[in-house]
Amino acid sequence: MSFTENSKLKENKKSLNFIEEIVENDLREGKNGGRVQTRFPPEPNGYLHIGHAKAICLDFGIAEKYGGICNLRFDDTNPVKEDVEYVDSIMEDIRWLGFQWENVYYASDYFQQLWDFAVKLIKEGKAYVDEQSAEEIAKQKGTPTQPGINSPYRDRPVEESLELFYKMNSGEIPEGKMVLRAKIDMSSPNMHLRDPIMYRIIHLPHHRTGTKWKAYPMYDFAHGQCDYFEGVTHSLCTLEFVPHRPLYDWFIDQLADGDYRPRQIEFNRLNMTYTVMSKRKLLQLVQEKRVSGWDDPRMPTLCGLRRRGYTPQSIRNFIDDIGYTRYEAIIDVSLLEHSIREDLNKKDIRVSGVLDPIKLIITNYPEGKEETVTAVNNPEDETMGTREVMFSRELWIERDDFMENPPKKYFRLTPGNEVRLKNAYIVKCTGCKKDENGNVVEVYAEYDPTTRSGMPNANRKVKGTIHWVSVPHSLDAEVRLFDRLFLAENPGEEKDKDFKELLNPNSLIVKKNCKIEMYLKDAQPFDSFQFQRIGYFNVDPDSTKDHLIFNRTVALKDSWSKIKQR
Ligand code: ATP
Ligand code: MG
Repeated sequence: MSFTENSKLKENKKSLNFIEEIVENDLREGKNGGRVQTRFPPEPNGYLHIGHAKAICLDFGIAEKYGGICNLRFDDTNPVKEDVEYVDSIMEDIRWLGFQWENVYYASDYFQQLWDFAVKLIKEGKAYVDEQSAEEIAKQKGTPTQPGINSPYRDRPVEESLELFYKMNSGEIPEGKMVLRAKIDMSSPNMHLRDPIMYRIIHLPHHRTGTKWKAYPMYDFAHGQCDYFEGVTHSLCTLEFVPHRPLYDWFIDQLADGDYRPRQIEFNRLNMTYTVMSKRKLLQLVQEKRVSGWDDPRMPTLCGLRRRGYTPQSIRNFIDDIGYTRYEAIIDVSLLEHSIREDLNKKDIRVSGVLDPIKLIITNYPEGKEETVTAVNNPEDETMGTREVMFSRELWIERDDFMENPPKKYFRLTPGNEVRLKNAYIVKCTGCKKDENGNVVEVYAEYDPTTRSGMPNANRKVKGTIHWVSVPHSLDAEVRLFDRLFLAENPGEEKDKDFKELLNPNSLIVKKNCKIEMYLKDAQPFDSFQFQRIGYFNVDPDSTKDHLIFNRTVALKDSWSKIKQR
């Protein structure tokens, strides 16, 4: 069975997730006229991260699967934190993941409709202007086991609330002096129903509506209503919104006049080990220059992962594998790494790159001679063909691949031992040269001319194979090695510790003196390769023709380092 047949089978066998079951059930019951409509609702206050990818795959995926539509809606109800820079990056990242929205909307498109609805609620006696401070309001909220206390303004005349509500929006009232609250139930067991705030005053201009509005709707007042105005049928969000759902439904009940109702459904958010996923925290890392920017390859942002060399497919496969549930969990980042290895293993050309070079001289190879050897581009995919690679007397090899006094099970170069040079000859190590401090500066070997491909002893087996780059045919490169950004598994949740104290000081190691094969001379930013025996690397956008820079996307699984650790 071919790979695609196999994965199709897997697809068909996979059972529906609980959201798909709800949607199929709604369709069977003919709800909302058989329509399926979702939205992805980011707040434009930061760059998207891999957690958002989980929501994107679900929102767009459900619409696609059931022949519906998914809109992109910017949740821009807080002008203090929002910016156009973020709007552009969000669109770019969604497209990069391979999704296309039907329409772009902004919550601010609905400010007038929301205002009118608020006015209607005031007129119906279901909302009032409260002049108490935030502290006073908080004090009256009660606790989950203790009912709250009614505000002294709760029963003020409708006319008074209306007049003040207009003043809240005209700029006459300072920020923090008044809010509009829904009049629901101060003794409800659900804290969100204890007269929640609908509007607050913000005097900053908004990035789209300018100075038109001074009263801004709160998330809970805006979100469900925007869903309703747009015709969303399934409003998918993360589990922390479960207790908000009764409020979501309460507002919709006041607004809806037909059968159509958007329905909020919650799923578990993506949390991942050794990183933080809150935009507020990521913004701090950027602002305090702990990372080079939102697209620093160590960031969990989509632009960071892209720069690191992650493919959209690898991220989508990962999201697919972890699935959607109703339970919070933390996902091991090694699952994401597994996913990118699987994808690049199929796609990447194998090349040679030496990160920590030392010279190997083949003393019995004629001086001045050079020849080509054939390299298979990708053993996983014959259609990717082969290429010719230059071989000569002097080669760069990894410093690690030679040891004068090796431990057991070291099958690389060591005096008297034979290894195969990948795609070329078997060589036998004859010794090395050291400097005055005892550091090895050159390694020597003799080759067996009968052992390259096409020769009588081509198939002679030796225990180790090492990679190499011919010295006169090599290029210099800078290589950036990344490790986990944090030392703690869950740095955002450590007690008594600021997450920034848990940053890994060695999360970036820059190797300036690497040697790579000539084939890579025209490599372009974002091109990806497997450096044999080391890992997957892609070209950083900082790279130029004269100064090539590679990012290590992920290491190959390295059996040797595991042995060393034992
Ligand atoms: P943050 O806490 O990072 O600021 P947020 O929830 O405030 O995230 P939004 O821009 O409001 O960010 O999120 C847009 C959508 O993405 C929402 O539907 C939200 O539920 C979803 N989302 C955000 N973070 C995650 C996550 N880690 N896993 C799954 N979905 C997420
Ligand atoms: Mg949010």
